[in-house]
Amino acid sequence: MANQRIWAPWRLAYVKDASKDSEQECIFCAKPAAGDDEANLIVHRGERCFVILNLFPYTNGHLMVAPFEHIGAIQDLPPETTAEMMALAQRAIVVLEQEYEPHGFNVGFNQGRVAGAGVEHHIHMHVVPRWGGDNNFMPVLADTRVMPQTLDQTYAALKGKF
Ligand SMILES: [Zn+2]
Repeated sequence: MANQRIWAPWRLAYVKDASKDSEQECIFCAKPAAGDDEANLIVHRGERCFVILNLFPYTNGHLMVAPFEHIGAIQDLPPETTAEMMALAQRAIVVLEQEYEPHGFNVGFNQGRVAGAGVEHHIHMHVVPRWGGDNNFMPVLADTRVMPQTLDQTYAALKGKF
């Protein structure tokens, strides 16, 4: 899939992390275990799930909610974990509304690679703030997006708001 982004100052980080992905470690297991939430963009830890910034955001404030447990499919999640994921998604929407005033949200799962899951063996819920027109600037031609805010700025804006 050709999915280019223009955010030149961060290009190096993007390339570095893309190569890290090829090592096939599960990022949703490795990042919470690493013990450095800021470096790993984890903005909140719940009891069973955590909230993490998407390294390749679709829009500013693009978050993901994932269980600590390595589970690949929604139907295999324990009920308590499912409930906490949804509660964190609700909280994420409140926090993002306060911080970014988006016009709407896409919230959901891509289960299985064919459905678009980048990491297919560890389920995660996307919470993507949307603005009118965020998709028709540059775009449609090249599937290119412009990110006005760095991930560090997003992290600083959202850390502690949960
Ligand atoms: Zn995992």
